[in-house]
Amino acid sequence: MLNIILCGAPGSGKGTQSDIIVEKYGLQHLSTGDALRQEIKSGSELGKEIDELIAGGNLVPDHKMIHLIERYIDNLPADCKGVIFDGFPRTVAQAEAFELLMERRHMKAVLLDLFVEEDEVIKRLLNRGKTSGRADDNYETIKKRLQVYQSETKPVCTYYLHRHNYFAINGNYSMEDTFSQIDTILKLIQ
Ligand code: ADP
Repeated sequence: MLNIILCGAPGSGKGTQSDIIVEKYGLQHLSTGDALRQEIKSGSELGKEIDELIAGGNLVPDHKMIHLIERYIDNLPADCKGVIFDGFPRTVAQAEAFELLMERRHMKAVLLDLFVEEDEVIKRLLNRGKTSGRADDNYETIKKRLQVYQSETKPVCTYYLHRHNYFAINGNYSMEDTFSQIDTILKLIQ
């Protein structure tokens, strides 16, 4: 199985690159942000608990995320070629729990670190905010999400770097040029 953690700041293009990877490699795609927004829309108990957190640019508690991921992994189709984890793990505690639960299932994942300059991601997110309808795509919440990314999620990259399961991608380029870096890595490791 080819399991990829796509890590990058909000607006770094994780969703866009995931779509291209899915198309070319036939992997499953789990965007935890999309899954959580779906929970909110459905009005579920979990959705009600996390609505305000997400709108404020804060993270959902680790134990809830780990539970959600575990359920997702255990329900993958038997012929699954691999998964793109887009937006998970987002804290070192999530990464540690994820590594344990993957190990128990004889699975592993590599992390691709999609780096984009801060000015550029702010520009992209403000632009997306005009049409996304997302409660968190406004300047104040974008700033908060970027702060959370630096303090909580960047250390996840270092965690995978130390485990020698890390690749850096320069996401400042066009969609195609960014994908071509990812493609080169996936061809090497698949
Ligand atoms: P972005 O990467 O643009 O911030 P996402 O759609 O990945 O957007 O996530 C939106 C929000 O969902 C996050 O700001 C956070 O509140 C919540 N979220 C998503 N994934 C996680 C996670 N793994 N742990 C905690 N919260 C998460």
